[in-house]
Amino acid sequence: MKKRVLITGAAGFLGSHLCDRFLKEGFHVIGMDNLITGDLKNIEHLFKLEDFEFYHHDVTKFVHVPGKLDYILHFASPASPIDYLKIPIQTLKVGSLGTHNLLGLAKEKKARILIASTSEVYGDPLVHPQNEEYYGNVNTIGPRGVYDEAKRFQESITMAYHRFHGLETRIVRIFNTYGPRMRLNDGRVIPAFIGQALRGEDLTVFGDGLQTRSFCYIDDQVEGIYRLLMSDYADPVNIGNPDEITIKDFAEEIIELTGTDQKIVYQPLPVDDPLQRQPDITLAKKLLGWTPTVNRHEGMKKTYDYFKSLSKEELFKREHKDFSNYTKRH
Ligand code: UDP
Repeated sequence: MKKRVLITGAAGFLGSHLCDRFLKEGFHVIGMDNLITGDLKNIEHLFKLEDFEFYHHDVTKFVHVPGKLDYILHFASPASPIDYLKIPIQTLKVGSLGTHNLLGLAKEKKARILIASTSEVYGDPLVHPQNEEYYGNVNTIGPRGVYDEAKRFQESITMAYHRFHGLETRIVRIFNTYGPRMRLNDGRVIPAFIGQALRGEDLTVFGDGLQTRSFCYIDDQVEGIYRLLMSDYADPVNIGNPDEITIKDFAEEIIELTGTDQKIVYQPLPVDDPLQRQPDITLAKKLLGWTPTVNRHEGMKKTYDYFKSLSKEELFKREHKDFSNYTKRH
């Protein structure tokens, strides 16, 4: 009998890559997504497989999955600052109510559950690099608060289920991750720069561009998540690439990579945009024997080549996903 895994947010960037990985490992994969920010294009290659099923469902409503479940990976959530602004209430609900439903399902099925947390729990960090012991510096009522606080609540309720019900839980704190299948119009810096490069537009750097981020390639992220799920460690673990760069230097790298003559244009820094971010991955290295292996140059080339290979029509669709109909109901 094959092991069965439920992956929420399956049609999203991370979720779809996780579906690929678990299928490759020989699992029966049940994908679930309400398709607000996810896109069926990311998983259309899986529908022909016997070991893949898909449920179009919103996990903030009661979640029912027939049959046994060995693992649950909760990756459903809007995941970019622009999305939080457009669908703030759904962002709060999926992290809180959605997580509660999935923990209940895990308890019922006696499944191990891994929840996707984020470096955003550290907010605009006063400790650098960020290790798992740092409690964070988050503005509860700022525009990012809907995501940050939902994720912080998610960690709390997960630990409560672990302690109170003895549920097997795992928490991954994901730092900025990139690669093929990112949504081009979600406002995050990598898809923004790639879209601008493909359209021949100038690159928009927010603020003075001296804020830093550390970008992890998707394959490394998936490997870290897989190893964490299979470990026996219930406290949160950072997974990300510690190679830190300023956004301005990153824009210059993109210009070099694409070989275009774009300029950098400066725009205002969004509210509560963290000044610096770099994961301390000492714990993941020790616990999981994991370390990122794809450097930024290699990863960005793969990502850019992927988007360049899409037809104009596909690119347009990825740039113009519109979820305004949905937002009216929430
Ligand atoms: N950023 C930018 N230009 C853009 C989009 C984003 O300079 O067109 C900046 C943004 O202000 C932030 C960094 O790039 O400092 C990373 O932003 P992103 O939205 O990708 O993720 P975050 O780490 O802030 O959640």
